[in-house]
Formats: sequence, structure tokens, C-alpha cells
Amino acid sequence: MKLLEGKTLSNEILNSLSERIEKVKNGIKRPPSLSIINYFDDSPSAVYVKRKIKVCDRLGIKTDLINPGEDKGYSYFLEFLKGVQEDSSIDAIMIERPLPSGYENIKTWDAFGARKDVDGLSSLSMGKLFIAKNMDEIENGDFFVPCTALAVIKIIKKYSINIEGANIAVAGRSSIVGRPLAHMLTSMDATVSLCHSKTKDIVSIFENSDMIISAVGKARWIKADMLGENCAVIDVGTNIDENGRMCGDVDFENVKDKARCITPVPGGVGPVTLACLIENVVKAAERNMEESR
Ligand code: NAP
Repeated sequence: MKLLEGKTLSNEILNSLSERIEKVKNGIKRPPSLSIINYFDDSPSAVYVKRKIKVCDRLGIKTDLINPGEDKGYSYFLEFLKGVQEDSSIDAIMIERPLPSGYENIKTWDAFGARKDVDGLSSLSMGKLFIAKNMDEIENGDFFVPCTALAVIKIIKKYSINIEGANIAVAGRSSIVGRPLAHMLTSMDATVSLCHSKTKDIVSIFENSDMIISAVGKARWIKADMLGENCAVIDVGTNIDENGRMCGDVDFENVKDKARCITPVPGGVGPVTLACLIENVVKAAERNMEESR
């Protein structure tokens, strides 16, 4: 089994940004800036928020952590996002999930505009992603791609896993991971089965797949007997087990001797997602710099 660890790739991406960040600082006389909206301090994403801020601090990117206040309601939130959109000192915005009930919809993702939407959730970014025909158009387009989906593609490329003509099962069809990922894998000539909670006989789909990517959020549910021979496994899931430890959707200890290669959790997709987000923040700031000239 080959371990597809993500920390090295994450560091490579982050280290490649220093020069670009300096250019932005010189060009617009301020550091690139990211506003992070986080409603719930005790949510599972709180730990990732701290990591994002730490890495941004290290690289010289300014961050603001904002809780708009659930008690102020949804209309206030939309107005608040509009204010962020109009604020020229903010290059990028990241909305942490979960949001208060009823807030997670396209109206929210569109409220601050595609230019600052570094997680690629706005309808404009999504539309451009799904129209793009190949990875070249996707990676070099004037829009952002959801960071977790992009991180999986970067891991596949980093480890030179050939997916042309491969059968890939993606478990989980959310708009931040499964759907954009399925589209990108298809554009790389893989044949994708996009599975979800209503998929019939998911095990037979898994058994016939060259690669399984799980983004479901169910601790250690994928076992060795669900895999065919020589299967690559990418685990997007981030769960907390009954002992309070972070784990993936894949039962790593059970699967590792059967899989051809596998990402660990923690230390796999997560750090690369973070690096993709920061790279998108720099891209947003560069675009602001170009347009202010
Ligand atoms: P989500 O919006 O809750 O979506 C979960 C998906 O899993 C849904 O499409 C659901 O199907 C599907 N599903 C549920 N039970 C299933 C089953 N038994 N078999 C097959 N599919 C099933 O979750 P998400 O936001 O995409 O996140 C998924 C996981 O990835 C979570 O653990 C999250 O923490 C993790 N994550 C990690 C990163 C990272 O950087 N590593 C980033 C983002 C998310 P239906 O559509 O039918 O309900």
C-alpha cells in the first residue's frame, strides 16, 4: 500500500505563494485579505478556522474572523455580505458551514459575488466550472473551484495516478465536494459513479471501481471487503469518533493492506484543501491588484 499523504503537497503549494504575496503587498500597499464568517464557535469547523488563521498569519495574509450574530436574522446577514462585497480592502471571503438553519442556499453564495468567493460556491463560479471542458480550462479559468474537490484532483496529479478510462466511485453528492469533483474527474476522462444515500447496492459499485473517493461524513464505514483488488482510496471524510479522535470515512487500519494506495485522515485531503483555499485568496488579491492598476 502506498500512503498518499497530503502535508508535503500542502507545503509545496503554500511555499510557492510567498513571492506572489510579496508582489501583491507591493502592488496594492496592503497584504492580501480574507474574511472568515463563522457562526458557531463550537462547530467541528472551528478547529479548521484556527488552522486557516494560523497559516495566513505565517504567510502574511490578513484575516478577519466574523460572527454576524444569529439573532440578527437572515436579511441582516445578506446585507452584511453585500457590505463585504463592496469593501475594497477585502479580497476574499470564506463562509464556514454549518450556517444557521435555512441560510445554506444559493442566495447566500451569490450575495457577495463570485470575485471574492474563494470556495467557488456562487452560481457564476459553479456555472463556469460545469461549462469548462478540461482541467486546463478549469485550473486557469477566471473563477474559483471548491477547494476540497480541487484538493482531491491535486492529490491524484501529485501521485501520478492515471485515471484515464478508470471507473471511479464518488460517495457523496454535495455541491462543495461530490458534484464538482465528479465533473472534474469526468473531464479527466474517468468514468464516474456519483453515489449517495439512495444508491442501490453501493458495494457492487465499489467492488468494480479502480478508485473510491468518499465524502459522506460517516466514521470508518468503508471496510476492506467493500473494495475490489488494486483499488485506490481517497478519504475526504472528517469525523470525530466515539473517543473524540478525528477519523475518515474509511476504516484505515482495516483497508490499508488491501488498497493500492490510500490517503490518511488526518494528514491527507485536509491540509491540501487548506492550501488550495489560501492559493485562491492570493489569486483573488492578484486580480484586485491587476484591476486597480
Ligand atoms: P454533506 O453535504 O452532508 O453530504 C453528504 C453526502 O453523503 C450526501 O450526498 C449524502 O447523500 C451522502 N451519503 C450519506 N449517507 C450515505 C451512504 N450511506 N452512502 C453513500 N452516500 C451517502 O457533506 P459534505 O459537506 O460534502 O462533507 C462530507 C464529508 O467530508 C464530511 O465528513 C465533511 O466533514 C468532510 N469534508 C472534509 C473536507 C476536508 O477538507 N477534508 C472539506 C469538506 C468536507 P444524499 O445527498 O442522498 O443525502
